[in-house]
Amino acid sequence: MSDDIKLIGIVGAGQMGLGIAQVLATSGFNVLINDRDQITLNNASNIIKDNINKAINRGRLEKDIGSYSIDRIKTKNNIAQLGGCDLIIEAATENEKIKHEIFQKLVPHLQPHTILTSNTSSISITRLAARTDRPEKFMGCHFMKPAPVMQLVELVRGIATSEETIDCLKGLVKKIGKISTNSEDFPAFIVNRILMPMINEGIYALYEGVGTVESIDNSMRLGANHPMGPLELADFIGLDTCLAIMNTLHDGLADTKYRPCPLLVKYVEADWLGRKNKIGFYNYKGEKPVPTR
Ligand code: NAD
Repeated sequence: MSDDIKLIGIVGAGQMGLGIAQVLATSGFNVLINDRDQITLNNASNIIKDNINKAINRGRLEKDIGSYSIDRIKTKNNIAQLGGCDLIIEAATENEKIKHEIFQKLVPHLQPHTILTSNTSSISITRLAARTDRPEKFMGCHFMKPAPVMQLVELVRGIATSEETIDCLKGLVKKIGKISTNSEDFPAFIVNRILMPMINEGIYALYEGVGTVESIDNSMRLGANHPMGPLELADFIGLDTCLAIMNTLHDGLADTKYRPCPLLVKYVEADWLGRKNKIGFYNYKGEKPVPTR
């Protein structure tokens, strides 16, 4: 039952982990957050504080709720310290090996009732669950970016996920004021099965010289009424994450239509990952984003 969930552990204090922590804390949950990178973890509280203050200033969050929420989030540098949580949301790098290792480290410290979830954008929930001691208490809980703003949480059932686990997560999503959809466990689920090939196609259009960065983004913003162009959106998501999702689609569905664009591969090889490290299809180091091609 979602009423039994009081303390939530988040693994990964990146773009998604911090956004999810903010949503949960502002909805009244206590949150423990872990990251393997000490610098990332040290910066986490200040980033969340800044984001909560911005939400208050924009009138999206009441001042009182904002102030209490900051105190509800604690950082923990050892993953074992998340052992007392009722629910875990894994939001680390989109890499299956990393995610398996996280659950392997975590499981021996957990209480029997603890539910495990992954915020993965594309990786098989059934495979992740099968390597834990509780596949029936494991499911996908896919928040969108930015988590405090986006309404949807895509819930993904693995082959062994129990109805109780699904009901519990549905209840939790409702409590935090969001809307859930259900997806079966196939590569990239629903949102990214549809969204990511479109972004990949935008990158192919750039690679083949059909248009410049600006003309591709303007075309889709103004011509298809998308709030962001595909290249802007790729930078916003993170190019490493986009590539990981395309690889999961390509490997999992064995169809050449999901072949990641070689230009996307090249950007990731250059460590041009988008907004999170200030360079991708645009350079974000100055006042205004400037296209890099
Ligand atoms: P990110 O690169 O911003 O953050 C990932 C974090 O995971 C980093 O801080 C890294 O240090 C940490 N990490 C890596 N290995 C770890 C380990 N072993 N233990 C603890 N922490 C570890 O990535 P992100 O954009 O926040 O994505 C995280 C997850 O959320 C991925 O599975 C991604 O597919 C998913 N997701 C991303 C988006 C998006 O738009 N970026 C949207 C929905 C879901």
